[in-house]
Amino acid sequence: MNDFASGTSSSSTKLIHGGLRYLEHYKFRLVQESLKEREILLNMAPHIIWPMRFILPHTKGMRPRWLLRLGLAIYDHLGYRKILPGTSNVNFANQKTNSPLKDTFKSGFEYSDCWVDDSRLVILNAVDAASKGASLRNYTKVTNATSSNGLWTISTKNSLNGKVEIVKAKAFVNASGPWVDEVLKESFKVKDSKNVRLVRGSHIVVNKLYEGDKSYICQNKDGRIFFIIPYEDNFTLIGTTDIDHGKSADQVKISEQEKSYICESASSYLKQEITTNDIVWSYSGVRPLYDDGASIAQEATRDYVVSAKEYDYSLMINIFGGKITTYRRLSETILEHIENFLGKRGKSWTENSRLPGGEIKVATLSEFEAKLKNKYSFFTNELIRRLARSYGEISFDIFGDADSLDASGNLTAVGNTVELSSGRYTNTIGQSEFSLKWTDPDFSAQQSAFYYVRVLQIPTPRNGLLDSLALQLDEPPRGPKTIQERAYSSPIWYTP
Ligand SMILES: Cc1cc2nc3c(=O)[nH]c(=O)nc-3n(C[C@H](O)[C@H](O)[C@H](O)COP(=O)(O)OP(=O)(O)OC[C@H]3O[C@@H](n4cnc5c(N)ncnc54)[C@H](O)[C@@H]3O)c2cc1C
Repeated sequence: MNDFASGTSSSSTKLIHGGLRYLEHYKFRLVQESLKEREILLNMAPHIIWPMRFILPHTKGMRPRWLLRLGLAIYDHLGYRKILPGTSNVNFANQKTNSPLKDTFKSGFEYSDCWVDDSRLVILNAVDAASKGASLRNYTKVTNATSSNGLWTISTKNSLNGKVEIVKAKAFVNASGPWVDEVLKESFKVKDSKNVRLVRGSHIVVNKLYEGDKSYICQNKDGRIFFIIPYEDNFTLIGTTDIDHGKSADQVKISEQEKSYICESASSYLKQEITTNDIVWSYSGVRPLYDDGASIAQEATRDYVVSAKEYDYSLMINIFGGKITTYRRLSETILEHIENFLGKRGKSWTENSRLPGGEIKVATLSEFEAKLKNKYSFFTNELIRRLARSYGEISFDIFGDADSLDASGNLTAVGNTVELSSGRYTNTIGQSEFSLKWTDPDFSAQQSAFYYVRVLQIPTPRNGLLDSLALQLDEPPRGPKTIQERAYSSPIWYTP
C-alpha cells in the first residue's frame, strides 16, 4: 500500500528473540519456535542480524529470583542453541565497564538474543524474491477482490501514479498485518471482520546513555517489560508500550503520556534521569495481535494464526498476528497451505539459505568490516560499518575495484554499471554523478531504491539525487537530517 516495510515491520523493538516473558503465559510453542528461528535467521543474514547480550537486573519486588533463573534455564534449553552463549549471573560491582544502572541494582542475569535491522530484513526479502522471479509492487493497494471459477480477480491501484491493474490468481494471501481486517472488509466485502486487536507500541531514542553493546531488559512497577538498547552507535533506544490503539492503523503516533511513561520507566533504572526533553526521535507501530479475548493488551497472544479457506475453488489465506522472529516459519506454513491446494512444488529450502549480502564468510561482523576496510581503505570507518551492516557481501559488488576517492569525494576506477541484487536494478556510479536506472519495470520500487541510494551515503551527489527523485515523484524532498540520517533502520517514511 505504501513503501516496503513502511508498516509495523519498521517500527518494532528490532529483536529476534524467543520472548522471555511469553514463558509466563505458557506460550512454549511460540517461544520454542522463535528460539529455533533465532539461529536460523542469524545464519541467513549475519550482516543485519547479530547476537546481543541482555542484562536482566534484579531487585526486591520483582518476579522472584528463582522464577527468573528457571525461566532463563528453560530459555537456554528450549531452542537448539548452537551459536549464542547461555545465561550467566551478573554482579554489577564486578563489571569492567561502569553500569548505567542505579547503585540499588547489585546483581542480575545475562542472556542472549539477537538484534535485527527490521526494515532492512523486509527489503532483503523483497530483493531476494525479485531475484527468484517474484513480481513486486510497492505503493500498490489491493482495492477489490472477487472469486469465480477457481480464480481471484484482484484490482490494485498505485498510489503514486494512480495506475490501476487487474491480477488473476488461484490463491490469495492477505498478509496486510494491522490492516488485515480492513482489507477483508473493504476489498473482500466481509462484514464485521474483527480478527486482530491493534495494540500500539512506541519507542523513544535518546543520545547514547552508556558505553558497550549490551542491552537491558527491565520490569516496570506495573509488571510490564521494557528494553534499553544501544542504537546506531550514538543513540539508545527505549521501549516499548502496550496500549490498545482504538484507531485505524494509518494513524500511529506516540502520545505525550507514552513519552512520559517510557522516560519514567527508564529513570527508575538508570543513574541518569531521562526526561521528554532528551527525546531526539520516537516511533510507534501497532501490533496486529490475534484477538484471543485477553483482557489486557500485554497478555494478548503474540503467536500467529493462519486461516485458509476455499471460495469457488480458489484459495484465500489470512494471516493474523505474528512476530518478525517467526516470519520465515510462518511463510513456510503459508506455502504448505498453498501446496495442499495447488500440489507439491518442491522441498522447503529457506532454512539453509542466505539473504542477499548474507554470504559473509567470516565469523563476526567486525571481521567482515576489517575485510571491507582492507579492500576499500579510502572509506571512513563509519561508512565501512554502514556498508557492512546494510549490504554485507554485496558491498564488494557495488564498489567493485574502486581504488580511491577523488578530491570531491567521488569514487574513481569503478566499473560504471553495477548490478545490485541479482540484476533487478542497476546503479550507475560515474565519476561525478550517481544516477539510477530501472531495468525491471515490475520492480516499481522508486522509493525503496531511493532508500538504497540513501543508505549508500555516496558522498557528494547524494542530495542532488534525493531532490531530483523526490521531484520526479512530485513530493517535497525528504532529505534526512541529523538523527533521521542515522536512524536508517526506519528508512524514508520518517517525517521530521
Ligand atoms: C512496538 C512493536 C514492537 C515489536 N517488536 C518486535 C520484536 O522485537 N521482535 C519481533 O519479532 N516482532 C516484534 N513486533 C511484531 C512485528 O513487528 C510484527 O509482527 C510484524 O512486523 C508484522 O509484519 P506484517 O508484514 O504482518 O505487517 P506490516 O509490516 O505492517 O506489513 C503489512 C503491509 O500490508 C500493506 N497493506 C495494508 N493494506 C493493504 C492493501 N489494501 N493492499 C496492499 N497492501 C496493503 C501495508 O502497507 C504494509 O506494508 C513488534 C511490533 C510492534 C508494534
